[in-house]
Amino acid sequence: MNIDSLIRENVKKLNPYSSARDEFEQFTRQMIYLDANENPFTNGINRYPDPQQKDLKAIIAAKKEIYSENILLGNGSDEVLDLIFRAFCESNRDNIITLPPTYGMYGVLANINAIENREVILNDEFQPNVDAILNAVDANTKIIFLCSPNNPTGNSFSDESIIRILNNFNGLVVLDEAYIDFSEHKSWLNELNDFPNLIITQTLSKAYAMAGLRIGILYASKPIIAVLNKIKPPYNVNILSQETAEKKLLQSTLKAQVRKILVEKEKLIVALKSTKFIEKIFPSDANFILVKVDDANFRYQQFLENGVVVRNRSNQPLCENCLRITIGNKEENERVIELFKSINNG
Ligand code: PMP
Repeated sequence: MNIDSLIRENVKKLNPYSSARDEFEQFTRQMIYLDANENPFTNGINRYPDPQQKDLKAIIAAKKEIYSENILLGNGSDEVLDLIFRAFCESNRDNIITLPPTYGMYGVLANINAIENREVILNDEFQPNVDAILNAVDANTKIIFLCSPNNPTGNSFSDESIIRILNNFNGLVVLDEAYIDFSEHKSWLNELNDFPNLIITQTLSKAYAMAGLRIGILYASKPIIAVLNKIKPPYNVNILSQETAEKKLLQSTLKAQVRKILVEKEKLIVALKSTKFIEKIFPSDANFILVKVDDANFRYQQFLENGVVVRNRSNQPLCENCLRITIGNKEENERVIELFKSINNG
């Protein structure tokens, strides 16, 4: 797999912006910094952040047992996803493949970047239609987006279908693992070395409880990281986000919180099973459940009037009358279960 051949021509030729902090890396407090036109009065945020987020990457690398050189961080995974488009997809020529029902941003980013989005709907079990996906590929197909566990369906894609796509596609496969920490399935991170065309994205927004910081993580082979580094905005992760994430990752509340969320998920599933207006509960490896109800618009409005906001996914293919419910904390969950009971009996 020659990654170079996938890169946009203008990006290949690009001379990247070199920031003051890129040029002088050994940032220590003792030096006099007159290179970046900053205000010299120290307040914790008067200096530009580390463009390569070295300390934060080192913590993530140790946790995930991977090299920092295989990591790129962004302002949420939404930014790293956009960088992939901008590095590899030629506007008004290339195409990508997405598998609805899935995370809407892939299609939005395709539109923003003037890239055709070829949609190959999942099968009835919400698994990829691998033959149809491979049939949809042409010489200008640059990326196939897989989301596992998938949003909004909640299920994981089978290993066989992911392997078949990786082995039979000569472009990039982006595997979005935003919800992997809620799942019993293994991350594909250990497989990164075997597949130079595999890009894995994760986020601190979900299980790691830091959605407000906006930190997305991309893992890939070094040539992919190198080209993305070339085009990313120099200071794309701010200093407060970097420092807060470092602190919080070292405290590590992840496992305990995930366990609690999964306990609440089971309680909610039990309650949903005895709720008449719930027609189907789809299996979920994530921190949300997709349910089919009798009338999604009506139920959505009814929950809203009772102070509960869920996501109406009815307009997505295969999701007619489906609502996506995030798992809240114990108190929130109890209130939701009470609400469902009272609607059920009312
Ligand atoms: N991928 C998936 C599948 C998501 O559901 C979301 C957020 N809803 C994201 C990525 C974006 O995450 P971030 O907060 O890191 O931008």
